[in-house]
Amino acid sequence: MVRKIMDKNRKNIVIIGGGFAGLQLAKDLKKSNYNVTLIDKNNYHTFQPLLYQVATGGLRVDSIAYPLRKVFRGASNIRFVMDEVLEIDTLRNNVTTKNNIIPFDYLVIATGSGVNYFKLDDSKNLMMTLKNPQDALKIRSYILQNFEQAYKTDDPAEQEVLMNIAIAGGGPTGVELAGAIAEMKKFIFPKNYPGLDVSKMRIALFEAGPKLLGPMSDGASTKSLQYLQGFGVEVYLNAAVDHYDGDHLKVSNGMEMNTKTLIWTAGVKGVFPDGLDHQDVVKGSRLVVDGYNRVKTYNHIFAVGDVALMASEEYPKGHPMLATVAIQQAQNLAANFKYLDKDKDMTAFEYKDKGTMATIGRNRAVVDLPFWHFQGAFAWYVWIFVHIFSIVGFKNKLSALWDWAYNFFTYDRAVQLIINPFVRPDQASDKKNIEEESLPTRY
Ligand SMILES: Cc1cc2nc3c(=O)[nH]c(=O)nc-3n(C[C@H](O)[C@H](O)[C@H](O)COP(=O)(O)OP(=O)(O)OC[C@H]3O[C@@H](n4cnc5c(N)ncnc54)[C@H](O)[C@@H]3O)c2cc1C
Repeated sequence: MVRKIMDKNRKNIVIIGGGFAGLQLAKDLKKSNYNVTLIDKNNYHTFQPLLYQVATGGLRVDSIAYPLRKVFRGASNIRFVMDEVLEIDTLRNNVTTKNNIIPFDYLVIATGSGVNYFKLDDSKNLMMTLKNPQDALKIRSYILQNFEQAYKTDDPAEQEVLMNIAIAGGGPTGVELAGAIAEMKKFIFPKNYPGLDVSKMRIALFEAGPKLLGPMSDGASTKSLQYLQGFGVEVYLNAAVDHYDGDHLKVSNGMEMNTKTLIWTAGVKGVFPDGLDHQDVVKGSRLVVDGYNRVKTYNHIFAVGDVALMASEEYPKGHPMLATVAIQQAQNLAANFKYLDKDKDMTAFEYKDKGTMATIGRNRAVVDLPFWHFQGAFAWYVWIFVHIFSIVGFKNKLSALWDWAYNFFTYDRAVQLIINPFVRPDQASDKKNIEEESLPTRY
C-alpha cells in the first residue's frame, strides 16, 4: 500500500528517479493541478559532480546527498515513495515496484545512467566505479586500506601494487579524481605514513581518445593535461585499458601496470526498468524521445535527463549527459504539463549551454563558458562558487564550505576514515586467510 491520499479528481504523474531531472520536475510541479508520485530506490538525491571529493576524503558524504522527503515537506500534491521500479506496463498504465503496483496517467522516466564497462565487463567486479555515494565511500576506504597494508609490508613489489592507482577515462570525473588523488600523494600520504616511500606511488590516467576532457575546448584540455602532469600524474592519451586481472592491467598501446586499484570512469549508458525495450525506443541504451521529451511511440510516457536521447541538428547523437541538460529538460517538461492541463500546445525543448568546468587540485580549474574560456585560480574560485550554489540544502552548503576551507588552509583532508572496509569480491578469501594467519598461536 502507498500512503497519502491523493486528490481523486486530478491526473497522476509518476516520476521514476529523484536525481537532477526527477527532483527538478517534482519541485516545479508543486502546487500544480496534478498528483505527483516521485519514486526513487534511495531516500536521497545525490549531487554526483562532487562524488570524487567524497572518494578522496575532501567532503563528508552527507554534504552531497539530501533526503528527498525533506524537499517535499508540506507539499500536498507530492508524495515520495522509496522503492525500486522493476517494470513498466504501458498497456495497463502502471509501474511495478519491488513492493507495489502504482498507476499513472503520465509517466516520466528519469532513471539516469549506469556504468558501461564495454569490453571489460568480465572484470567489473575487480574495478572501482564512481556513480553513487556507496561507490565513493568504497574508493575512499579501499585507497586507505591499501596504504595501511603497504605500511605493514617490507616487500617493495607488494607496496607498489598496493599504492599505485590507475584511472580509466579522461573525462571530467577521471581528471578531477586524478588531481585529487595526486594532492593526497603530495600532502597527506607522506605525513600519514612516515617511513613508507610514497614517491614510488604511481597515479596513471588512461584516455582512449586523443585529448582529455573530450567535449571541452582545446584550451581546457591542454591546460588540464599540464596541471595533471605538473602534479606527477602519468597521462596516456589514445590508450584504452583493455585487460585487468585485479593486480595487473594492459593497455591498447602495449603498456602494462601493476595496481590493485583501477577506477573505471570510461563509460556510461542509460538505465531504465523493463517494459519499453523494443528496438525503436532504445538506442545505445538510451530512450529515444521527441522534442517534448516524449518517448517515441507513446503519448503519455516521457523520459528526461541522462536516460533520454533527443537527437537534434545541433546534437545528432543526443545531448551530453550533464546535470544542466537534465535540469533544463525537467523545467521544460514541468511547463508542458501545465500547458497540457490547460489544453495548450507544448513547447519544444531547447538546450541553453551555460558552460562546463572541471577542477584539478587546489587553485587550478578550467572553465568553458559559451563565449569565454579561462583557466587557473580565478576559474577555481568560480568552480567553488558554482558548486556551493548548486549543492542541495543549506546545511549541506555550509558543511561543504567548512570542509573546503579546512582542506584549503591546512593542506589536509577532512575525512580519512575507513568506516566500512571494502572487500573486493576476489579478495574475500585472501582477507579470511590473512585474518586466520595472523591469529596468535599462543596465549
Ligand atoms: C562522478 C560524476 C561527476 C559528474 N560531474 C558532472 C559535472 O561536473 N557537471 C554536470 O553537469 N554533470 C556531471 N555529471 C553528470 C550528471 O550527474 C548527470 O548528467 C545527472 O545526474 C543526470 O541526471 P538524471 O536525473 O538524469 O539522473 P541521476 O541524477 O543519475 O538520477 C537518477 C535517479 O534515478 C534513481 N533510479 C534509477 N533507477 C531506478 C529505478 N529502477 N527505480 C527507482 N529509482 C531509480 C536513482 O537512484 C537516481 O536517484 C557527473 C556524473 C558523475 C557520475
